[in-house]
Amino acid sequence: MLNLILFGPPGSGKGTQAARIAERYSLLHLSTGDMLREELRNESALGKEAKRFIDGGHLVPDEVIIGMISDKIDATSEEVDGYLFDGFPRTQAQAEALDKLLELKGTRIDGLLALEVSEDEITQRILKRGESSGRSDDRDPDIIRNRFRVYLEETAPVAEHYEQQDKVIRLPGEGSIDTIFESLCSAIDKLED
Ligand code: AMP
Repeated sequence: MLNLILFGPPGSGKGTQAARIAERYSLLHLSTGDMLREELRNESALGKEAKRFIDGGHLVPDEVIIGMISDKIDATSEEVDGYLFDGFPRTQAQAEALDKLLELKGTRIDGLLALEVSEDEITQRILKRGESSGRSDDRDPDIIRNRFRVYLEETAPVAEHYEQQDKVIRLPGEGSIDTIFESLCSAIDKLED
């Protein structure tokens, strides 16, 4: 199995790149943001609980996210070649839970690919995405700033966690989509060697 984390601040292009990487390497793309938005659309109990956190640019509680990912891994681990995690793990607790879940399946994270993009570039990109994405959390500069602050305070330490395991690869997240994709692929190819 090949298991990767695509890491970076909101608006760093994770979703776009993750879809392409998952296709090229036949990985199951698991985006907790997409999974939560689907719960919102279905108006499920989980969706209703998550809505107020998402709307404020806050993180959804760890136990909700870990439960959601754990169910998904249990349901799919027999049939996939690996996972591409996108927008997860976002806290130290989530990273520790993920390591345990994978260990139970006899596998592990092979690499964390971190896209580096400046805060100014990110705010511009998210506001632009908000014009068409229909996401209310992409339209308000205050919420975007809050998401970036949460990223620095709670999510950046996740890279530290995997740094200790020597699994972090940092790549520039600015430039054309194709150029960034190629640099991600060459980093992944090196991991597979
Ligand atoms: P994203 O699409 O990854 O930017 O996620 C949108 C929103 O969903 C975030 O601002 C959080 O409120 C919530 N969310 C997504 N993934 C997670 C996660 N792993 N942990 C906590 N909250 C999350």
